Amino acid sequence: MFIKRDDLIDDEVSGNKWRKLKYNFEHVLTHRMDGVLTFGGAFSNHLLATASACQRIGIKSIGIVRGEELTIDCNDILRQCSTLGMQIEFVSRSEYRMRNEKDFLHRLHLQYPGFYIVPEGGANYLGVVGCQHILHECERSFDQVFVAQGTTTTSCGMLLGLSPNTTLNVVPVLRSFDSLFEMQKLFIKCAFDEDYINGLLEKVRVHTNADFGGYGRYDLKLLDFMERFYAETKVPLDPVYTGKVLYALACYCEQTSDISEDILFVHTGGIKGGAEIATREKRKFFG
Ligand SMILES: *Cc1c(COP(=O)(O)O)cnc(C)c1O
Repeated sequence: MFIKRDDLIDDEVSGNKWRKLKYNFEHVLTHRMDGVLTFGGAFSNHLLATASACQRIGIKSIGIVRGEELTIDCNDILRQCSTLGMQIEFVSRSEYRMRNEKDFLHRLHLQYPGFYIVPEGGANYLGVVGCQHILHECERSFDQVFVAQGTTTTSCGMLLGLSPNTTLNVVPVLRSFDSLFEMQKLFIKCAFDEDYINGLLEKVRVHTNADFGGYGRYDLKLLDFMERFYAETKVPLDPVYTGKVLYALACYCEQTSDISEDILFVHTGGIKGGAEIATREKRKFFG
């Protein structure tokens, strides 16, 4: 098994967030736009990555955050975003649900002229294309590649960059998530041909045995597993994404009879010092 450490790309614009933002930011720089506006939940790594990239480039950033009851001080991510200069606008859940609708986006364009709008999680064409490079960078191919799935942007891009005899194993972190349907939807939004997409999707295997109850949820078993992995490898995982992927990967290894397979785990980054967080959370469990 090999690990591609995209988590080491940067502390804040970490892992797949850098991949998804790269071409979006190139576009912003080419057109000398004033700033970037994007969307996220209260614990969004994407918001933090956007805030940090904008601050370093010297442009403005606006984050539309789900939950009108929240404040900037309610967690570290939002506090960091704000410190990096991001203007944060809290909206109700019903308003947030309109984030991809044409009229809603049109109103934002009028309200914030000069801002480039990036969808939640960087889920647009430029985001997908940036994620192709994750596999292009590898000097060899693998039988099995494992990656986490939120908006599916990363896995769609990796599927475009997948070599012919490789299977892409995706681990959705949302409960009751229809991975193949969501991937197809994003590919169609990016204007790929439908028949071509359906062919590509045949190379995807979905692992639904590791969502641990849904987004942001986990139990002691997962934290224990992450801790043991950290002790053995010194590779930190986070309980939201990468911990679940590695758990699904371990289950796969237990079940498969083919021990000659080469496996690649793509570490997409996530919460800084995931192992420490897991230890702290574990203490909370025991009271
Ligand atoms: C955001 C994130 C993901 C989700 O990627 P998608 O492109 O939205 O599917 C996966 N892993 C980590 C560590 C993340 O922060």
